[in-house]
Amino acid sequence: MSAIFISPSRYVQGAGEMNNLGNYAERLGKKALCLISEGGYRRQGAQIEKSFRGTSAEVIFETFNGECSKNEINRVGAVVQEKGCDVIIGVGGGKIFDTAKAVAYYAGAPVIVCPTIASTDAPCSALSVIYTDDGVFEEYFFMPANPNLVLMDTEIIAKSPVRLTVSGMGDAMATYFEARACAVSGATSCAGGKPGVAALGIAKLCYDTLIAEGIKAKLAVEAGACTASVEKIIEANTLLSGIGFESGGLAGAHAIHDGLTVLPECHHMQHGEKVNFGTLTQLVLENVSEEEISDILDWMTAVGLPVTFEELGITDTSREHLMPVAEAACAENDTMHNMPFEVTPESVYNAMLAADAYGRAALE
Ligand SMILES: [Zn+2]
Repeated sequence: MSAIFISPSRYVQGAGEMNNLGNYAERLGKKALCLISEGGYRRQGAQIEKSFRGTSAEVIFETFNGECSKNEINRVGAVVQEKGCDVIIGVGGGKIFDTAKAVAYYAGAPVIVCPTIASTDAPCSALSVIYTDDGVFEEYFFMPANPNLVLMDTEIIAKSPVRLTVSGMGDAMATYFEARACAVSGATSCAGGKPGVAALGIAKLCYDTLIAEGIKAKLAVEAGACTASVEKIIEANTLLSGIGFESGGLAGAHAIHDGLTVLPECHHMQHGEKVNFGTLTQLVLENVSEEEISDILDWMTAVGLPVTFEELGITDTSREHLMPVAEAACAENDTMHNMPFEVTPESVYNAMLAADAYGRAALE
């Protein structure tokens, strides 16, 4: 199998970059449709409008209805047609830019993704997660190309809720361990090839950056401060993790995340928080050294990521309650099968129990 590496065409990150959005958009088209929430428009609308002044492009705003569903994609697509827009911009969180990516794909237009949070590794990917209008997961939509531009204004992101940035660190921490597992097993990544040295190197750099900067960055964002450390974590959560997962591959951690979604009591947890417990469980499955487990637990507890059932909101830890999680994690179409050895619902169930026990011991 060939090594395949995919990425956004351009990634720009810095304080105040939202002020340059118009300049970037005019390189891609004449009329931009900016998909944004009502709250987002109140916060950033004037700044975005101003960024288009003096450029050759104009911008119109469209309010996002709240769900990345087929109906919403079609609705926004019709607006794009009617108004003659030739570049799509998504400003906000995952569902907005997933919708913007899909709308742009159907319109054959370039897309700019402007996250105002750093809570997942989704912005850079050529992938949208499609839900029903009621918010139930429907399908992954793989597109032939990654976004033309991902624009991260770190001044805005540093002021977003701390829990979201920490959750992004949990999502990013899984990257290296999952890519490492895929490299051993020879699994196919989301990019459709095997992980090459670039993807693996970036995944490792993601890990090193999180270990070196994560705790400092958490304290800084708690203070609302945008520091060098916060900048590095935003890049790790978004670019390094984004490229790392897409071209490096997913394995146990994300499969366990998917399994945890069967428990209603976990629905209030962030994606990266559930992935974090998945990472811990994957490391138990791999039976890594005590040193590796305790180093990673020290980091997870210091940044405030959940490491126990209790922290995930799970109070019923009976076998009857947890086996469906383990079974869902091993579903045929999930990424558990990218692990380099056979994993069964029974071994996942046992690994989750041990991960929870390690987590409780670390919190004592
Ligand atoms: Zn993820």
